[in-house]
Amino acid sequence: MLGYAAHQHGYRVAVLTGGDNDSPAGAVAEVEIAAGFDDEDAVKRLVAESDVITWEFENVDAGIADAATNAGLEVRPSGRIIATAQDRRAEKEALTAAGVAVAPWRSAESESELVSAVNELGLPVIAKAARFGYDGKGQARIERRAEIADVWRRLGAQRLVVESVVAFERELSVIVARSHSGEVVDHGVMENRHVDHILDSTVTPARLNPERLNEATAIAARIASEWGLVGVLCVEMFDAAHGLVVNEVAPRPHNSGHCTIEASPTSQFEQQLRAVVGMPLGDGRCRPAAMVQLLGDLFLEGCPDWSPVFAQSGVHLHLYGKHEARRGRKMGHLTAVGDDPDVLLDRVTALRQALTVR
Ligand code: AMP
Repeated sequence: MLGYAAHQHGYRVAVLTGGDNDSPAGAVAEVEIAAGFDDEDAVKRLVAESDVITWEFENVDAGIADAATNAGLEVRPSGRIIATAQDRRAEKEALTAAGVAVAPWRSAESESELVSAVNELGLPVIAKAARFGYDGKGQARIERRAEIADVWRRLGAQRLVVESVVAFERELSVIVARSHSGEVVDHGVMENRHVDHILDSTVTPARLNPERLNEATAIAARIASEWGLVGVLCVEMFDAAHGLVVNEVAPRPHNSGHCTIEASPTSQFEQQLRAVVGMPLGDGRCRPAAMVQLLGDLFLEGCPDWSPVFAQSGVHLHLYGKHEARRGRKMGHLTAVGDDPDVLLDRVTALRQALTVR
């Protein structure tokens, strides 16, 4: 999607895929380098092909940023921000330093430290692998003390971050772009529903009072500015009775911002392009919109029949061109744009439901 925005503005794209040949990103790039993120020759080639480096996935080898910086290229967002977002402990420390609230947490590097974390935080907690986690991978909720040993056996091969469970009303995200001159533009507040830790649907604007909406966008802008971001950052938050709590950040466009493609004059992908190549940022305001994710589960017996989608004007189907469908794998999404967020969410949810009936 960044590739489309780049081509629209006359840029050429080289992509390092992490290993896959014929990847979705490679299909819209002039150069596809099908190699691992830690492949030094591949990184050298990427650097040689490029004038500026950006990311659409943060769990990469941070050495890519060093190689690019050493060759005199701009890396946006910087390697420091990528490294921060890869590690939940570094991320929480950097969020706290930026002055935003996170859930009470402890680090645990042994079973006895996990026991101490539970003692100090109280139950329930969520234990998360500190590094390279996403979509609930490497996570376990602990409700009872008797579960601690089992969770340590399953997750304890690596450093953990242990968090208090936040009793939230809803989950939110704010996608914010910041340019090298310090201009900050957001897309408003997204309200997200997760199923099995995977984003299931997004509706915007979030159904919140105006003060909370402002508070949420201010938190995202603050992180972007305090961290000296150049690029796009998604800030995921919990809306709790006592206030907004930041869960995690992703220094790139995010699933919860897919609706910006149709709902905003400047999508999150175009904002990333603009920030990264040094253009002024665009108008990020969104019309009311809703998005539902289409997971691999829908494709296990073949491609669904899309006729119910095509029968409705104002509903947009996006398929990412992934070759293999697996349960929980994000294969595409549906977006509807209109006037009433509740009506739009009902509409795309019902359409997705219709797809499962063949
Ligand atoms: P994460 O991988 O940190 O984004 O977590 C995935 C999902 O687990 C979140 O979107 C929440 O639904 C849930 N979750 C994670 N951390 C917490 C927490 N501290 N309190 C309550 N729910 C959480």
